[in-house]
Amino acid sequence: MASKERFYESIEINFDKAARYIDVDQGILEQIKVCNSVYEVRFPVKIDDQYKVIDAFRVQHSHHRLPVKGGIRYSEMVNQEEVMALAALMTYKCALVGVPFGGAKGGVQINSREYTKEQLERITRRYTAELVKKNFIGPAIDVPAPDYGTGEQEMAWILDTYRALAGHDLNSTACVTGKPVDVGGINGRSEATGRGVFYALRETLNDKDLMESIGMEPGTEGKTLAIQGLGKVGSKTGKICQEEGGMKVIAVAEIEGAIYCEDGIDIDALIQHRNDTGSILHFPGAKNLDDCEDALYVKCDVLVPAALESQIRSDNADKVQARIIAEAANGPITSGGEDILIDKGIMIIPDLYANAGGVTVSYFEWLKNLNHVRFGRMSEKFNEASYDKIVKLVERLSGKEISVEERMDLIRGGNEIDMVRSGLEETMVTAFRFIRQEMINYDITDLRTAAYVVALKRIAVDYERLGIFP
Ligand code: NAD
Repeated sequence: MASKERFYESIEINFDKAARYIDVDQGILEQIKVCNSVYEVRFPVKIDDQYKVIDAFRVQHSHHRLPVKGGIRYSEMVNQEEVMALAALMTYKCALVGVPFGGAKGGVQINSREYTKEQLERITRRYTAELVKKNFIGPAIDVPAPDYGTGEQEMAWILDTYRALAGHDLNSTACVTGKPVDVGGINGRSEATGRGVFYALRETLNDKDLMESIGMEPGTEGKTLAIQGLGKVGSKTGKICQEEGGMKVIAVAEIEGAIYCEDGIDIDALIQHRNDTGSILHFPGAKNLDDCEDALYVKCDVLVPAALESQIRSDNADKVQARIIAEAANGPITSGGEDILIDKGIMIIPDLYANAGGVTVSYFEWLKNLNHVRFGRMSEKFNEASYDKIVKLVERLSGKEISVEERMDLIRGGNEIDMVRSGLEETMVTAFRFIRQEMINYDITDLRTAAYVVALKRIAVDYERLGIFP
């Protein structure tokens, strides 16, 4: 494969494009670029009556901030280079959205669909034990989270295993994020990446200058969407874009095929249909497309790849008809593919920004675990009492009384999910402003290069200020 088509090299190309704008020592740039620690381990797990040897990885890309952070992927295609690419992206993503972590990523080379729940538990626990042995997990060291093929359940097993092996740590709950809420997770984590994609899209679509540059009307209302991958990220992105952005999902792809409906596909109904029938195909009112890849090529305002990397390459980018691509997945566009898309005038909202909602809310979960108290617990009732006093004062001064419903709405103190959503929205809006500012400062025409500039400058400052030990 030509280097512009490989995931890791594409990230290096993106890095180099941005590094041109940064006035920093070449050695520091080199240090930012390389992966600091790469751990590959093979371990046996008993599956039925046989032993199966499983290949797994954990990569810590940058230690300029600790802990390092990044999801764990279960996929039979996982390899060292892919995990290195994903870990590097995590470093740049965290820096861009002001999450004070270095980047990391994990991978276990299995197809989770081929194993029972009990077998997956055994694999997850053994992988965690390997990480504990090598000091590759811990609240102050390295904090995993869900990614492709993993979810809350795996995170709960990781927590339990870590506690069993290193449980003397008071902050042990913070050794992993994306946990179920009842075992130390945070409300809003499961929707966080999709919600972040929505905020990123909303900010881009509401930017009049950007929209003018690609000849589009500003605003989210009525914009059409095609989604690849109806997993944790794709499903929430679709649902929130529909419900809060007034957007219309017209095409969805999954591994079994793709569907299209000009009038819009209700995401909740489609998930129900998939649960009932085992497939998104034959969804009432929609037509099946010939090939699952066809969803990438439908005419729409926004394409949301939310599955895996390297989906749009130099051999198929020409077929894309969307006006904007929001990279919900990590690395869905190769560098070669991107050159073609840019020539076609297609705007790309880059992964390190578009899908940063997940790590942002993981950061909130980590903070919650270190604080040992849920967000809102200390302030909710106090705020309600204060707002109630203000409402009563307004009633007394105006001589008018408001309804019970209006009062309840006005005086409500924020609970955990309100605070998580507010913190996430603030993070995504602020990061967008920084990206736009760098576009203006350096006359950069694409969001990705500007996002890398924001991130690299921040990491370089850390290295310069901290100095190098010894
Ligand atoms: P997931 O496993 O929950 O869902 C992915 C879905 O994509 C699955 O349903 C799978 O069947 C489908 N899929 C795979 N190949 C496909 C193809 N060729 N065409 C159509 N569908 C296909 O994974 P996820 O957590 O939603 O992650 C998706 C992407 O988002 C990954 O690139 C991941 O790195 C990225 N991401 C995830 C998070 C997170 O919080 N989970 C955060 C940031 C980025």
